[in-house]
Amino acid sequence: MEFLAPTTWADELAARSEHPGAVPIAGGTDLMVELNFDRHRPAGLLDLTRVPELRDWQRSEDAGVRLGAGVTFARVMTELSGLAPGLAMASRTVGSPQIRVRGTLGGNLGSASPAGDAHPVLLAVDAVVEVESVRGTRRIPVAEFFTGVKRSALEPDELIAAVLLPPVAGPQQFAKIGTRNAMVIAVASFAIALHPGARRVGTGIGSAAPTPRVATAAEDLLAGELDWDGRSPLDASVVRRFGELVAAAADPIDDVRGSAAYRRRALAVMEARTATWAWDEYRTGVGS
Ligand SMILES: Cc1cc2nc3c(=O)[nH]c(=O)nc-3n(C[C@H](O)[C@H](O)[C@H](O)COP(=O)(O)OP(=O)(O)OC[C@H]3O[C@@H](n4cnc5c(N)ncnc54)[C@H](O)[C@@H]3O)c2cc1C
Repeated sequence: MEFLAPTTWADELAARSEHPGAVPIAGGTDLMVELNFDRHRPAGLLDLTRVPELRDWQRSEDAGVRLGAGVTFARVMTELSGLAPGLAMASRTVGSPQIRVRGTLGGNLGSASPAGDAHPVLLAVDAVVEVESVRGTRRIPVAEFFTGVKRSALEPDELIAAVLLPPVAGPQQFAKIGTRNAMVIAVASFAIALHPGARRVGTGIGSAAPTPRVATAAEDLLAGELDWDGRSPLDASVVRRFGELVAAAADPIDDVRGSAAYRRRALAVMEARTATWAWDEYRTGVGS
């Protein structure tokens, strides 16, 4: 198997274009499983770990964050809990310490699994995926990135360069339910982000549909019912209706990790918890 190891971004893009059979590898925590089980035998591997700008993050012009695709979950947890609180929460739930120091945000998106833990948060905060090829750069809103089960809008000659996060607008929360507490793929997950300036709510559902997805009707309902100015506590009937609309937006399956009915129930529980935590944080100004 050919192993390509460019050291500059321009060379990575050229190699991606010239060697279509070479599969990109970042942390390898998804890809090496595929290779070890012989599910996949690519003609070559394109190593992404030697390009410094992929591994770094910076404040962006609009005071948000530009995260290189090779930034690991461990770094998000330790360095970005203020600038990307929801993503830091989700990162803490990924695999184990070993997986978090190797696994990258770009790899999570590259696999495009419905269960990827970064995805619900990226949806809730309106993240944008920056992809690049020798033909140029495209910015894809994350809601348009996932096109099917483990399929994405990435063209064969493109690489994920970065993820762009807008400035934190308000409280963000993430919850995940698995078959145990650690080293577990989500049976269902849910993220919420409040955008008080725009009087808007963002959501992301994970592991409960063919792709990660937003719950648009639920977002609109909650945004319209929240007492943004008076900051009164969240009404139980609003939480219940929000939960019904979140569950209606999901399209879960029965599989070895859980039934569709369990996933819908889990979403309702996570929706109620995360919405209450986020709203209480906004109301009181204190992180829950
Ligand atoms: C034991 C174990 C536990 C895990 N637990 C979790 C979990 O709790 N939550 C979770 O979400 N995931 C989990 N995973 C899956 C995995 O760790 C994540 O999906 C991780 O984000 C993958 O990142 P990586 O850098 O290792 O990707 P890789 O394995 O290197 O690549 C994954 C895919 O993305 C492509 N790719 C990588 N980078 C790019 C790029 N810049 N541009 C284009 N394509 C790219 C690769 O070609 C490949 O198809 C687990 C995996 C293992 C083995």
